[in-house]
Amino acid sequence: MSTLVTLSADTLGQYEPVIGLEVHVQLLTRSKIFCSCSTHFGDPPNQNTCPVCLGLPGALPVLNREAVTMAVKAALALNCRINPRSRFARKNYFYPDLPKGYQISQYDEPLSEGGWIDIEVGDTRKRIGITRVHMEEDAGKSLHEGFPDSAERTYIDLNRSGVPLIEIVSEPDLRSPEEAYDYLTRLKTLMLYLEVSDCNMEEGSLRVDANVSVRKKGAAAFGTKTEVKNLNSFRFLQRALAYEVERQIDVLENGGEISQETRLFDSREQRTYGMRSKEFAHDYRYFPEPDLLPLVVTEEWKEHVLRSLPELPGAKESRFQAEYALPKQDAALLTASRATADFFERAAKACGEPKLAANWVLNDLSYLLQENGKSILESPVTAENLAGLIKLVAKDTISGKMAKDVLAEMFKTGKTPNQIVSEKGLEQITDPEKLAVIAREIIAANPKQAEQYRQGKTATMGWFVGQVMKATRGQAQPQLVQEVLKRELA
Ligand code: ADP
Ligand code: ZN
Ligand code: MG
Repeated sequence: MSTLVTLSADTLGQYEPVIGLEVHVQLLTRSKIFCSCSTHFGDPPNQNTCPVCLGLPGALPVLNREAVTMAVKAALALNCRINPRSRFARKNYFYPDLPKGYQISQYDEPLSEGGWIDIEVGDTRKRIGITRVHMEEDAGKSLHEGFPDSAERTYIDLNRSGVPLIEIVSEPDLRSPEEAYDYLTRLKTLMLYLEVSDCNMEEGSLRVDANVSVRKKGAAAFGTKTEVKNLNSFRFLQRALAYEVERQIDVLENGGEISQETRLFDSREQRTYGMRSKEFAHDYRYFPEPDLLPLVVTEEWKEHVLRSLPELPGAKESRFQAEYALPKQDAALLTASRATADFFERAAKACGEPKLAANWVLNDLSYLLQENGKSILESPVTAENLAGLIKLVAKDTISGKMAKDVLAEMFKTGKTPNQIVSEKGLEQITDPEKLAVIAREIIAANPKQAEQYRQGKTATMGWFVGQVMKATRGQAQPQLVQEVLKRELA
């Protein structure tokens, strides 16, 4: 994984990583944060622009109320307090995709502060502080033609300019790449539950910058940090952090110093490299945005948003354990997505067998969905039909083994389990007379084995059961078969 092989496990073990994440989440509003242009992704370049988001002189921003509502929703779910009054500020820097020469963000008076996300480290819960959640606009996009082999031309697409973002800044509370991964997973799950973002990393709706430093175990002071950008996936986040931690330890062990800088992760080489020396707040010449009034979130507005919050993943997980007597592992997996949790709950209620419903959703159905590249929302098997299948197994109409085949057929055709079972004649044979006829035939055809059984070689029974099962294509109930055989062989 790493190209730094000079460090022994012993040396690595003397250090402790310190990590803080800055996560940008694109809000799912239909229009941009300060104008009415569409936020739709993938439209022809520069189609969704106007004087405001093009940064033309004299154009004035107007704050999108829905964006604030979504930001407040996210902040509340992250346990932050909402500042009754916050302010937008200009963050000045030059970049070709930033036509105004500044980004409207929030600085010393952010929307919200002081929250947390609980992560799990082994069996213990750990609280990761959230410093702040603030609102800002996105910049445009530079498209480099020929990149990375040659940078012949760069085009600017301003469709993204002015798309609403929230930035979620964590405290430096994370202590390993795995903790960072877990934190980001929970943050993403939460945003998806709230439906404030689609968190699509490939489209840039979820972006993460990782701040990382190392210190000797037991040391009180933090080391100098670097900031790693260009982390396009959860896997890259983990890889980049692991690499960066080792690199820093290597530098320190060789008597060097960490320089505070921004580094880029190169996913092809699986390493980070320095991009520029760290910029500081004063480089941006922040000042209050004169074209916007302070943002006031009233108590009523906040209460209204609070009431609209759905049941959050942690609460749902606990409830699933208590209400359906599910093991923690099942509850955690089912609540990892709101759609899966809803699907499970509908199936469990419809069949009255929560543990069986959990097993079917997490195993066989998940497998079929994955194999066919479908999400649970696109499942051809409805929760009600899955419940129907579970009931057929519970009533012994079909065997558990057959139920798997029936599910596959349901998945393929969208038919109900009852339809499939009766069309294919899959009902279990529960009539002892019918089985007795078959048993007699088999006994007559195998006099030697029958004799062995009668002389006390009881193990032969298993063989006979197998023969009957084969003759009935698995449709007989094994226990009944055994009873019938005992009688016929006596
Ligand atoms: P800056 O002024 O460089 O932007 P901040 O204090 O605003 O630094 O922190 C930015 C991010 O870096 C936060 O997520 C924070 O938790 C994290 N961070 C701060 N100090 C350290 C450190 N020494 N090591 C790792 N991460 C840190
Ligand atoms: Zn616009
Ligand atoms: Mg900062």
